[in-house]
Amino acid sequence: MKETKVNCALCGLPVEIDGFTTNTTEGLKLFCCAGCVSVYRLLNGDKLLD
Ligand SMILES: [Zn+2]
Repeated sequence: MKETKVNCALCGLPVEIDGFTTNTTEGLKLFCCAGCVSVYRLLNGDKLLD
């Protein structure tokens, strides 16, 4: 059992699936779903690197 659960950078829910990520000036952010990625990117457009 891994205890290194990552929480979604937007809503705080545990990230169960890899792949929903985005690169920012603050590092790589992980998200629980595509919706959270989209909202984060909308809200933090000035921090996005990709
Ligand atoms: Zn989320």
